[in-house]
Amino acid sequence: MQTSKAAELRRIWGNKTCDHPNLEKEYYNGASTGDYVCTQCGETKWGDNWARMERKTIKG
Ligand SMILES: [Zn+2]
Repeated sequence: MQTSKAAELRRIWGNKTCDHPNLEKEYYNGASTGDYVCTQCGETKWGDNWARMERKTIKG
């Protein structure tokens, strides 16, 4: 997913909560940024397992 598309997703999704069910590699001008984007809300963080780590953190 392109960074521009991720930004658009974030704008559309707004402040709703998201459990980040699916992550996709982020690309900028065809090059991987090393970040992964949630395909639902557009949140972007480093690494391919941040959503899983966050869910673990929330559960304690
Ligand atoms: Zn999400």
